[in-house]
Amino acid sequence: MISLYDLLEASNSQMFGEPAAQLFTGFCLDSRQRQESQLYVALKTDYGDSHQYIEEAIQNGAAGVLSTRPPECDTTGVSVILVRDVETALLAWASYVLKRYKTSVVAVTGAFGKSLAVSAVHAVLSSQFTVHKPDLEYYGRLALPLGLAGLKQTDRFAVIELSPRQIGEMAEMVQTIMPEVGIITYPGGTHAGRYDQSDQLAREQALLLDYLPQDGAAVLNFDTDSVVELHGRAKAKVLTFGMDRFGADLMAYNILVGQTRTGFDLRTQQERFVGRWTPLLGKHQLYSLLAALAVGMHYQVPLEDALRKLTEMHPLPGRMKPLSGLNGSLLIDDTYSATPQSTQAALDWVAAVKEPEQRVIFVMGDMDTQGGASQRGHRAVGQRAADVVDLLVTEGADAAVVGRAALDHGMERRQVSITYSARDSVVAVKGFQLTEKDLIIVKGGMSARMELVVQALLENDEDRRELARQDVSQQMMGFMHHPARPSWIEVDMDALANNVRELKNIVGPQVALMAVVKSDGYGHGAVQVARTALANGAEYLAVSSMGEALDLREAGIVDPIIVLNYTPVYAIRQAVRQNITVTVYDLQLARAYARAAREMNGRLKVHVKVDTGMGRLGVMAEEAVSFFRHIMMLPNLEIEGIFTHFADADEDPDYTAAQTREFRGVLNPLRASGFAFKYIHAANSAGTLLSKDYHFNMVRTGIAMYGLHPSEKVPVPPSFKPVMTWKTVVAQVKTLPPGHPVGYGRTYITRAEETIAILPVGYADGFRRTPRGWIYVLVHGKPVPVIGRVSMEKTAINVSALNSVSIGDEVVLMGRQGDAVITAEDVARFLGTSNYEVVTTILPRVAR
Ligand SMILES: *Cc1c(COP(=O)(O)O)cnc(C)c1O
Repeated sequence: MISLYDLLEASNSQMFGEPAAQLFTGFCLDSRQRQESQLYVALKTDYGDSHQYIEEAIQNGAAGVLSTRPPECDTTGVSVILVRDVETALLAWASYVLKRYKTSVVAVTGAFGKSLAVSAVHAVLSSQFTVHKPDLEYYGRLALPLGLAGLKQTDRFAVIELSPRQIGEMAEMVQTIMPEVGIITYPGGTHAGRYDQSDQLAREQALLLDYLPQDGAAVLNFDTDSVVELHGRAKAKVLTFGMDRFGADLMAYNILVGQTRTGFDLRTQQERFVGRWTPLLGKHQLYSLLAALAVGMHYQVPLEDALRKLTEMHPLPGRMKPLSGLNGSLLIDDTYSATPQSTQAALDWVAAVKEPEQRVIFVMGDMDTQGGASQRGHRAVGQRAADVVDLLVTEGADAAVVGRAALDHGMERRQVSITYSARDSVVAVKGFQLTEKDLIIVKGGMSARMELVVQALLENDEDRRELARQDVSQQMMGFMHHPARPSWIEVDMDALANNVRELKNIVGPQVALMAVVKSDGYGHGAVQVARTALANGAEYLAVSSMGEALDLREAGIVDPIIVLNYTPVYAIRQAVRQNITVTVYDLQLARAYARAAREMNGRLKVHVKVDTGMGRLGVMAEEAVSFFRHIMMLPNLEIEGIFTHFADADEDPDYTAAQTREFRGVLNPLRASGFAFKYIHAANSAGTLLSKDYHFNMVRTGIAMYGLHPSEKVPVPPSFKPVMTWKTVVAQVKTLPPGHPVGYGRTYITRAEETIAILPVGYADGFRRTPRGWIYVLVHGKPVPVIGRVSMEKTAINVSALNSVSIGDEVVLMGRQGDAVITAEDVARFLGTSNYEVVTTILPRVAR
């Protein structure tokens, strides 16, 4: 319970209006949730300002509001507390109630096993005392007050996890709760933000020890190298636990790692306990139990009682939790979080328990680590996976590194699937034909949300309640996106997969689908688009240069790739070596290609391009037959296909039909003389959507895969979904007087008092300035006009029509926000160009 008067007293703040409710059952951050008798906390963070949702929160039953400014809505019957800074007020409250209730705090930090240690300490101490434990997991300093909402006057202990989100947070967190006992489960990196480094985090964790009182206890992992240094640091008594080295106060040994449980013997200086078992899986989870036993020792809980409590503990959601998987398989859910350490520990468990007849399927999402250590970490995981698992599925761009490393270390292609969406991962796993002999282990970082994969592999749907991150407010806190620059592109790979499947449905099983991924996949990221397209029905890839083709090969893609554009002779050796198909349309060039292939002692695959009226690359239709008879004679060339390209399929059906007749006029004599092409293709997206007559036995689709319309006359069907969203955030909001200029050249002058917002995006991102720029963008789900000249890195918008826009609010430059949408076609209209040009000219530095 949270008392209004405690809050006022602790934060030295005031009421706005009359007090109504005086007690609240909890804090609520999400205005959309029902919140009877709760206190709605309006927060200003990097992700926006939730003051704008106060009215909604009150409609949903909030009994109180904590905010930095008076709400603009009716607050009768609601207690409104005004503070200067919401986070500071909440932290002050946390500190205040702990002191007032005389509750002792046991704090837990470390690289992994924190929440398990919290549960274990709770289990051990509850055998003798009343103990408070937060019922949800939050991160950062706000976790402290949120987690203490349910604290009661009678609680003798509170067990609290310290998971700083960034460097510098730890000291404040520790000073707020002033723990009596501090546990470091395992020093080092955790899932904090992208700027953090593991050794720096370890230093921060050590701060916990500095504030422990003399009669408190520091509980440290004896198996880590830093234990000696940490030992010297604490004024409090030090208790150590471990498994590998002799000398710890509490030591587990004779560890038996099993598929359903873990066995151990335990000894202290005085006592021994043999043959104990826990249903927790993996040696690494034992550390958390040992730490809890040490806390029990400190508070004189008999070890026998403590051990009994611990052996009854069940695995936590998303931490090596066994579940029933499809077709009787064993599904291990380890999706709560992932660092290289915890992932290696999970693979250690696999290596220890794998039965000879068992097949291990490892599904790995992006880990939470970032920066240089992340590449190394992902590679090391891939290398280890190659040694211990039979089949590997990776999901996401970072996890793709795991897949490639596994291939480099001897896994075969058929054993590895690299995907970019939960759906594709699930399809890949199901494709292995699961049986009761399969052990599936799923792991990934918080933002990878691999619990969605676990959910789809469950035998019983009710088990979804056992998964990590099922609570909405936890979802809000837990895994927010941290782009390196405050302007980024979100690519919806599920939408892309859907569009590719729709295209495959349109052409049918007899016609092959070539996915056009030139220009970095029309700006969507060529590698991820290519893999997703191949996983959903495409069988050929098309690019525009040898460099683009080699990038795909470098990423480990082995499927056929054609270069549609001109390939210089010097690039042909690479084409032969990497099995890349090139386009031919000129006899001299074809001869030079053949010579290069012969020098390599290899074969070069080619498709002949016929110009049937595009007037661009290609051999003229009337010369095509004779051209063909010549190149047929060239050794070392393998003529795999023939194609043409439509000039006007999106506008003029008659011209397209005429081009097709012309193309058949080339094909027929060649076929009559007995030549069979493996691939004959003409249609781009528009041609594909227009008529089966244009399909031949392959189509080349680009724009439609990305969910965009080839033209107004040839739209994609409604089942297609746009794939790309471009976002930024508000950098500043200010009100200008009438007659005030905005931007370079003072091209815009305010007409009245106007509220403008500055966006950290400009023409250096591809947010175009001339000859025409964006007309409007979306804020709070409403269109707002762009004003003045776009700068290199900044843009102004007029937000006078909205109330309470603030720093950090999301801005959509292209895509959907609430009910409003700006399509690529809308942007094309703003700029006076096509949607093709819109998506391919957002510059590469905008992270995908
Ligand atoms: C780009 C390209 C395509 C794809 O066209 P969409 O209209 O995007 O489907 C097809 N064929 C060739 C030769 C291309 O250059």
